[in-house]
Amino acid sequence: LSIKGIRGHEKTVEMLDRAIGSGRIPHSYLFTGISGIGKKLLAIKLAQSLQCGDAADKPCDLCNSCRKVTANNHPDVIVIEPDGTFIKIDQIRDLQKRLAYKPFEGAKTVCIIDGADKLNLAAANSLLKTVEEPPATTHLILIAENIRQVIPTIVSRCQRIKFHPLPSNVIEELLVKSKSIPPAEARSVARFAEGSIGKSLDFIESFPLNERVKLLTAFTGMKSVEEIFSSAEELTNKDNIEKLMKSLEILKFFLRDILLVKMGMPDHYIINIDYYEFISKKAQKETEEDLLRMIDSVAKTEKAIMMNANKKMAVINMLINITLKKETSWKKR
Ligand SMILES: [Zn+2]
Repeated sequence: LSIKGIRGHEKTVEMLDRAIGSGRIPHSYLFTGISGIGKKLLAIKLAQSLQCGDAADKPCDLCNSCRKVTANNHPDVIVIEPDGTFIKIDQIRDLQKRLAYKPFEGAKTVCIIDGADKLNLAAANSLLKTVEEPPATTHLILIAENIRQVIPTIVSRCQRIKFHPLPSNVIEELLVKSKSIPPAEARSVARFAEGSIGKSLDFIESFPLNERVKLLTAFTGMKSVEEIFSSAEELTNKDNIEKLMKSLEILKFFLRDILLVKMGMPDHYIINIDYYEFISKKAQKETEEDLLRMIDSVAKTEKAIMMNANKKMAVINMLINITLKKETSWKKR
């Protein structure tokens, strides 16, 4: 048996394979881990394997059943997601009505609950009954990012599988191979993503590489007050707070990179690896103390903006603080 096309969760896949092979599959699984690392993908693959005809290598991806699961129209695979912020009790009641019937096509009904941490209390208590006494032909796969938001009685009834963040080289490879992202960009983005392929894709969508390069080029080239003002203008003029916050995050990671080089950390910790030369030059010039102060300045700016400070003023202050510190010589004052 094998679950093809999954990267980075080899041990989990192996374990599920063994369960499928032995035919002893728990009625309820709980998949936990940060968003965007493949929990749902694997849940769907597992559902597919449970429904797959009699191929030796399940899921075969080719049989009628497999194709229906992929197309999200298999009558015996139910996927429940939050309706708005929460999964509501009506959704769970509908599910229970459905589970009272036998499977329509195969021998099993598989239900994926994508958001076991987003059940409101009534829905959670109602689902608990199903988790405690699932119909014989039913398999539940619960998915949660935050285990603390899942009621303990549900957690204790499920076999829990923890998903770990993906290594950045795996994300890098996925971005290059399946999303055709140029290798240099893939490497940097993979390091931003903190182990989540979902986060890396979000990042590419909201912050294309050329914009990151533009931002860092502006930042690294800034030498005069005029340049600071025009950068602050550009960062804040579109009134797009999400983009501004992301720009600040990029600056923070950039400063963090310089600090790590300064501290002699190995290269694979460096996120903006495409700026390595500049980073190492800067690391030679700055003291650890100053770098920490700069990082702190960006963090404070983020906070101030979240609390509705004047965005442009906050950004100007920050840029002065991190680029012109010698000229303003705040220490001497
Ligand atoms: Zn199949």
